[in-house]
Amino acid sequence: MDRAPLEVCPLCKKPVKKLIAGFSTPKYTKPLSVSDAKAAGFTILEKRCDGSYEKL
Ligand SMILES: [Zn+2]
Repeated sequence: MDRAPLEVCPLCKKPVKKLIAGFSTPKYTKPLSVSDAKAAGFTILEKRCDGSYEKL
């Protein structure tokens, strides 16, 4: 169930915003790479252009 994070939205081609969340509080981002953050146990969320979030 692992996949590479998207860089751009496949629908609108805009850059995908990623949130790095710890303890289910997706309020802040951290200057970590996605792979580093996942290795550290953080949850990575991609924000979709429709406003929803998808967990990586
Ligand atoms: Zn989009």
